[in-house]
Amino acid sequence: MMHFHQALADFSDLVLVTSGRVVAKTDNLPITELIIDSRSKIITPFPIFFAIVGINHNGHDYIASAYQKGIRQFVVDHSCSRSIIDRYKDVNILQVNHTVKALQQFSTFYRSRYHLPLLGITGSNGKTIVKEWMHEFLSRKYKTISNPHSYNTQVGLPLAISLLQSNHEYGIFEAGISQSGEMEKLSSIMKPTHGLFTNIGPAHSQGFENMTQKIEEKIKLFTSCSTIYYCKDHQLIHQILQKRYGKRKIGVNWSFHNSKADYLVTCKELAGQTTLQITTSTQNNTFVTPFRDSASIENITHCLVYLLDNGFDPEQLQRSLLQLKAIPMRMTLKAGIHRCQIIDDTYTNDIVSLRLALDFIEQQQPTKRTVILSDIVQSATPDNQLYQELADLLAQHKIHRLIGIGPIISQYNPLFAIPEKIFFNSVADCIAQKISFRDETILVKGARIFQLERVVQKIEKNNHGTILEIDMHAIRHNLSYFRKQLHPTTKIMAMVKAASYGSGSSSFELASALQRHGVEYLGVAYLDEGICLREKGITLPIMVMNPTDDQLDGMLNHHLEPEIYSLELLDTLACFISENQNKTIPIHLKLETGMHRLGIAQTELDQLIERLQQMPCLDVVSIFSHLAASQADAHDTYTHLQVARFIKMTQYIEAHLSIKPLKHLLNTNGILRFPEFQFDMVRLGIGLHGVGVDKTIQPHLIPASSLKTTISQVKNIQKGEGIGYDRSTIARQDMTIATIPIGYADGLSRSFGCGKGRVVIHGHTCPIIGNVCMDMAMIDVTGMAVKRGDEVIIFSAEHSIDHLAEELGTIPYELLTQISQRVKRVYYT
Ligand SMILES: *Cc1c(COP(=O)(O)O)cnc(C)c1O
Repeated sequence: MMHFHQALADFSDLVLVTSGRVVAKTDNLPITELIIDSRSKIITPFPIFFAIVGINHNGHDYIASAYQKGIRQFVVDHSCSRSIIDRYKDVNILQVNHTVKALQQFSTFYRSRYHLPLLGITGSNGKTIVKEWMHEFLSRKYKTISNPHSYNTQVGLPLAISLLQSNHEYGIFEAGISQSGEMEKLSSIMKPTHGLFTNIGPAHSQGFENMTQKIEEKIKLFTSCSTIYYCKDHQLIHQILQKRYGKRKIGVNWSFHNSKADYLVTCKELAGQTTLQITTSTQNNTFVTPFRDSASIENITHCLVYLLDNGFDPEQLQRSLLQLKAIPMRMTLKAGIHRCQIIDDTYTNDIVSLRLALDFIEQQQPTKRTVILSDIVQSATPDNQLYQELADLLAQHKIHRLIGIGPIISQYNPLFAIPEKIFFNSVADCIAQKISFRDETILVKGARIFQLERVVQKIEKNNHGTILEIDMHAIRHNLSYFRKQLHPTTKIMAMVKAASYGSGSSSFELASALQRHGVEYLGVAYLDEGICLREKGITLPIMVMNPTDDQLDGMLNHHLEPEIYSLELLDTLACFISENQNKTIPIHLKLETGMHRLGIAQTELDQLIERLQQMPCLDVVSIFSHLAASQADAHDTYTHLQVARFIKMTQYIEAHLSIKPLKHLLNTNGILRFPEFQFDMVRLGIGLHGVGVDKTIQPHLIPASSLKTTISQVKNIQKGEGIGYDRSTIARQDMTIATIPIGYADGLSRSFGCGKGRVVIHGHTCPIIGNVCMDMAMIDVTGMAVKRGDEVIIFSAEHSIDHLAEELGTIPYELLTQISQRVKRVYYT
């Protein structure tokens, strides 16, 4: 596997730019890639591992495993002791004050060696989609590089920059910051030649004093830019840019109504499409876009203005434009036919994103692995080298079957050492072949022009247009937010009962992501849920809250840890032990402190202690209780009473048994409102989903779930007509109504009917009218231009489930968990 890999630099260069201290030294090796996650597959000969200290993990804990994988170069901080360093032979180890800073210094140095047009994008919303669309447009003409989607932060951007190669012709990078002081660093790493400011909104507001300060911070990205593009309708952005850069830089702006702007944009909606007329003093161009919502329109206008201003041909732009997708082009996980799992990544195809996707395959259930892959177009690497790398990657990830689509990949057939392989010239040929798929994980990955989504449609499990989308990035974000509220040593038990609050077909999808992101424990309600997690390969410790007497055997066979909530259950355990000598059984004691549900009462403690003394093989791993009203300040006195009882009872048990188990009490709102009672662990549930918290906290979280469907039929009805069963809504005027394929059997409760619930179409709220049926519901779309197939949102990040729950007199927990299993789940990574 030793073929040519361009070195980024040498170890000695790194030493120079960081002015760190070399604490272990072998030869001066080249550096061929930067690694921060020891689980990454190594595909180049001389990687270097940066031990990054983050909220969820400490890279220094993974040096040994990185070494084992063959990494011989490391950057560590002063927490890494001499005795650790001395364990490793034939290594280069650089010790610095701050490893993230060293990573940034290195990529700043690396970036400075390249001269190419590079567009830097910032703003509150739309950065990623503008970047991806821009990539689509630009890569038709240039060998273009952009950051893989989440690589836009203090650590991500340096990694993204290190992917630059000498034959790249255009760069587009986005910068994401969450607090003041960060942008200067990103700016000096990225050194954009052109800048684009998408817009400003409340996202990530907590790190800034006010909107002005947030804008001032963001525009620091543009220090090195000659030209800055923005929309003049965001007046504050305009003013601050003027003040900061004034005459020193060229600002190119556009507006929907101000004819003094450099580009005036007139927007018309016609037959479900939006046309944009873009005018300057010298040009006048009209574009037809496939979008209708205002966010997409703003984003595409940014792209078009930038491209027109840089001399792109309007006709070519129009052709590319119609092929864009309105959603961020992210990898998604879907259920497939015959128990297959599909990883749908049909938007991009380059070696970096392929690598990310293959790493993602490894986190899925261990099944046969198939990859459906198109030609890679517009790569900066020569084909023979590129396809060799690709073949190595597939072999390393133990891919069983490759289905190659396109003339070029077909031509390199002999390079692929894979048990089963088959090649086609086009997607149509592949579909015509009717290949069978069964019990496998299928990665579908290709450049957009190959339209591999047609293959995905063939192998997706049938659906009726209603989907629940889960944004895994949001889950990660929320997890980090809660981590930040806790002491670094406090453990998190993620509650993944009830198919992870409705997010999964089982608890597995979320649990596997959480396992990867370093939660310490999982909690489920029933044995079945725990077994399912084990069978699919989850290795974290799992607490089962409601074990029944006959389940202890199954519990132990699957290394699951029962909650013991009564003396009776303890007695059953005693019988069980006498039959199964010399096993240690981990248990969690649940105390009754005032919830009055399950738990061992204060009056039973002496009996509890006596029994536990007689059963030394029981290992009390934790003692816990549950707050009855953690979210309600009206009950704070009661909460404090519960806390006091909990402390007293645990102390009593600990003293009499001489044990020091983990103690835990707080759920989501407990963490937010009573962090002083976090003890050793907390149990996080709804907060991971970014909902169910106080309004003041909400802006810090991202709601992860969106329930969506599409219109089946639109019809006009006359005044006086009844709608649906029992004619429970009578039209008070002539109306247009639409039927949507979601009913109470999908989880759209009947209480949504007759005007009480609502949905959102193209940004407008439409009431649900008539009674909700089992599989369908009707909505009022009078006066709106809607058609069959249009997207309908029940709730999403923007249209909050909290609000909906409040309107309906319930709680988001119930709305989430009642979404039935026939609704297809799609995971955005
Ligand atoms: C479900 C559950 C939690 C999580 O509660 P959230 O409010 O969703 O954070 C915590 N503890 C116990 C015992 C639970 O059953």
